[in-house]
Amino acid sequence: MGLKTFPGGIHPADSKSYAENAAIETMPLPKKVVIPLSQHIGAPAKACVKVGDEVLAGQVIAEAGGFVSIPMHASISGKITKIDLFDHPSGIKSPAIEITGNGEDNWVKLSDDNVETLSVDELKKRISAAGVCGMGGAGFPTHVKLSPPAENPIDTVILNGVECEPYLTADYRIMLERAEDIIAGLKILMKTVNAKKGIIGIEANKPKAIKHMKELVKNETNISVVSLKVKYPQGAEKQLIYATTKRKVPNKGGLPMQVGVVVQNVGTAVAVYEACRYEKPLIERIITVTGKIVKNPKNLKARIGTKYSDLLEYCGGTSEEIGKAISGGPMMGAAVPNLEAPMAKTSSGLLIFNRAEAHKEDESTCIRCGRCVDVCPMNIVPSLIVHNVRYDDIDEAERYGVMDCIKCGSCAYVCPSHIKLIQWIDIGKLKVSQKNRK
Ligand code: SF4
Ligand code: SF4
Repeated sequence: MGLKTFPGGIHPADSKSYAENAAIETMPLPKKVVIPLSQHIGAPAKACVKVGDEVLAGQVIAEAGGFVSIPMHASISGKITKIDLFDHPSGIKSPAIEITGNGEDNWVKLSDDNVETLSVDELKKRISAAGVCGMGGAGFPTHVKLSPPAENPIDTVILNGVECEPYLTADYRIMLERAEDIIAGLKILMKTVNAKKGIIGIEANKPKAIKHMKELVKNETNISVVSLKVKYPQGAEKQLIYATTKRKVPNKGGLPMQVGVVVQNVGTAVAVYEACRYEKPLIERIITVTGKIVKNPKNLKARIGTKYSDLLEYCGGTSEEIGKAISGGPMMGAAVPNLEAPMAKTSSGLLIFNRAEAHKEDESTCIRCGRCVDVCPMNIVPSLIVHNVRYDDIDEAERYGVMDCIKCGSCAYVCPSHIKLIQWIDIGKLKVSQKNRK
């Protein structure tokens, strides 16, 4: 029997060898951090400190801006030195809080509790208070995913250990080095939504991680490790759900809870475990700093708000002039125009390309080859969507499913005419949203 997977998809070179064997290394404390108030989907957090305040690591510096929001915490101890617009990992300037460190690492008081004795309400409260959000993708607040309406009971929690983006190896290292904590986090997630089943999905190109995780769950009757075919975007939420359960999340804005599933990334599971056991806020994460020209590619445990320039410097800098920096992976990551931007809770990687790697071919006309249609994992027609967006027929673009696009980049990757499909789809999504708001 073949490995489980989903229809469509592509096979880019995985380029993981730069950092996959680099064990997680703790980055020394940065002198300054910049904590963006928006690091997640949902309302930005609201600053509750002022310039001059002394803060401890783990102290709340911005409160959640609503239910679909998370608080932000100081990631180092020191003094608030600025509250202003700063470079954001997304490339746009956005409100953030700067902390200048005091050279020490003074934390708020943490606890150490037996999580098995904590109630579901207490677990959710701790996850929310710790500011945990999805760490593998867009950063949806975790406590919201764990509070589905009564009409959408959850029977399965899927942990995403796929890491299908080329170059990135942070989740791989977490699965090798923090597997017990991942499983403890999965059990907490299952308890909070009353799920009877836990699945850990891992791509078959990570045999050591699969073996290690399987060994640890061999006596767990309700947790399984599923080996998945190596194909991009295997780690996209809907594609992972289909591959592991054969359930289809409906198009047109459907959510995993509609098919009884909650998906979380393996790094998020560790953050959930630490939030519940120690009441530890999410102020550090594992990030892969990689690329052919990075002198010493690494998987770093670094404080949220550390500047990309500091991470790169710690990895020895580059052997050539930088052509492009990307926050995240090469397929779905965002270009970083300024390395002074800080890493956020969702920053899975800092990828550095030289000029040749960053070079983009000129766009030519669509030859109607249909390759974009063949690879689209959402079963939509990218070429037709883009045609309609170009000619401003937004109703047609919507009818062809522009809002269902998960921006995986597979269509653009295979397009022989180098059409900037994602940029056009982005414009289409924006115009549909504007139209529907009216
Ligand atoms: S249209 Fe969207 S979902 Fe389909 S391949 Fe392109 S980027 Fe991926
Ligand atoms: S892959 Fe490119 S050239 Fe081929 S149909 Fe799609 S948009 Fe047109």
